[in-house]
Amino acid sequence: MEKDSILLITHGHFEKEFLDRTAILVAREFRLPITIKENHSDLSEFYDPTRRQYDGHKLLQDIDARYSSSSMIRVGLFRVDLFIPILTFIFGQAAFNGSTGVASLYRLRNEQYGIKKNEALLLERFSKVIIHEIGHAMGLIHCHIPGCVMQPSTYVEDIDQKNHEFCPNCRHKIDLF
Ligand SMILES: [Zn+2]
Ligand SMILES: [Zn+2]
Repeated sequence: MEKDSILLITHGHFEKEFLDRTAILVAREFRLPITIKENHSDLSEFYDPTRRQYDGHKLLQDIDARYSSSSMIRVGLFRVDLFIPILTFIFGQAAFNGSTGVASLYRLRNEQYGIKKNEALLLERFSKVIIHEIGHAMGLIHCHIPGCVMQPSTYVEDIDQKNHEFCPNCRHKIDLF
């Protein structure tokens, strides 16, 4: 199914300028219009008190159900710490070959690692994670070409090593999508 737009759904407070800049970076990669929507619903049902984190898998399912549309890619944006059962934490995740993704800036903030706050770097990282997850949603798997945004990232430093852009191979697949 051809996608004609991207919907970013915020959960929690994001500054408008930060969101607008994120949207510009994401739109540039996919050449699709972006809409931003705020969701103020309570996330407590997704909270795992043992892990003190939010279930990324359940959030993904919730967004998929709540904003179902065949022509739109939906990405939930979060500020809280996300996990999936097999991993300690995730920066984001997507339903492979679906239309839905999630991304959180929680682990992307320098402050999380005891380093001085850096909004410009946070914006870079966050938009790369979103682009990466939309890539998965469009059916792309991890790519090992240096610099490609589809390179896997275990640590935040891995995100800093890659670009916003897809390598020519991944780009080609996105363009066929
Ligand atoms: Zn990935
Ligand atoms: Zn690639």
